[in-house]
Amino acid sequence: MSDTLVDLRSDTVTRPTAAMRRAMAEAEVGDDVYGEDPTMNRLEEYAAQLFEREASLFVPSGSMGNLISIKLSTRPGTEVICEQKAHINQYEMASMAAIAGAFPRPIPTPDGILSWEQIEREIRPKTYYFSQTALVSLENTHNMAGGTLYPPAVADEICDRSHQAGLRVHLDGARVFNASVALGESVARLSRKFDSVMFSLSKGLGAPVGSMIVGSREFITQARSARKMLGGGMRQAGVLAAAALVALRESPARLVEDHANARRLAEALAELPGVTLDPSSVRTNIVIFGVEKSKKSADKVCEALRGHGVLASGVSKHAVRMVTHMDVDRQGIERAIAAMKDALGA
Ligand SMILES: *Cc1c(COP(=O)(O)O)cnc(C)c1O
Repeated sequence: MSDTLVDLRSDTVTRPTAAMRRAMAEAEVGDDVYGEDPTMNRLEEYAAQLFEREASLFVPSGSMGNLISIKLSTRPGTEVICEQKAHINQYEMASMAAIAGAFPRPIPTPDGILSWEQIEREIRPKTYYFSQTALVSLENTHNMAGGTLYPPAVADEICDRSHQAGLRVHLDGARVFNASVALGESVARLSRKFDSVMFSLSKGLGAPVGSMIVGSREFITQARSARKMLGGGMRQAGVLAAAALVALRESPARLVEDHANARRLAEALAELPGVTLDPSSVRTNIVIFGVEKSKKSADKVCEALRGHGVLASGVSKHAVRMVTHMDVDRQGIERAIAAMKDALGA
């Protein structure tokens, strides 16, 4: 992508910083399948410390991290309760069914945030002729609901009650660092009651590749075998871990800028006739808005934006998503706002 483009399609488009590239070039490496990559070992220790857990595991993608976590916490024929627009339900190739043999039990919500009351209603009766609920999975922040947040007390209650009901709980924390910054709570605090946590290195944190699973030593030992089974065992992966270490150390502190940019964007877009958006709902780095009132489809709006060098994604017929990240500065945000005026006006 040319640097003159303002690419707001996703925070996955970030490119590694100069510091990351330097760390990659200089990384000490070994064979990580033999457990001999020193940089990878340092990353996995560092992430476990950061989350105040026993162990962590680097995986090639968030999708694989979620799949491994789900596979280890279910048996074929059991169910996973999740929100309906959850990434695991809509954007992971139905891998929980195709590979883990688990069945999603999705619950629709307006804002992506589940309550214990909603979950409790969907737990299957303990009767031999019903499939059984095994796992509850929460997404924080919730991507397709617009980067929405779990109040810590709500997530805590879900974890406690689920455990009392004999269920395990997974956190799809692809953007848990965004949640941490927005809520002013550590990632350890936000995730401490979950049995497994997945977070992305390659989104807001800006690393080129990878995600991590965090949990107990026993869980991570099993996850390492599951990763190998799925073809995710990597050899001199220290080149990736080196960039990830820089991302974990340096990037969380700057996410506040992405959130301020998203807020500025949301407030300006909400003023435009043709846009439906409540800017107060934008708490992190994702802005999803309706364009139905403009009488244009999301695709048409995105096409017009592209003509102005601004990239956004249509997420339904009349909804557009813009995601702020480290490769778009305030000037880029102002360009996106100007482009939207034009795209809707013309
Ligand atoms: C991006 C994302 C994932 C998957 O990450 P990949 O690395 O793209 O596989 C999982 N969950 C959520 C909420 C995401 O936004």
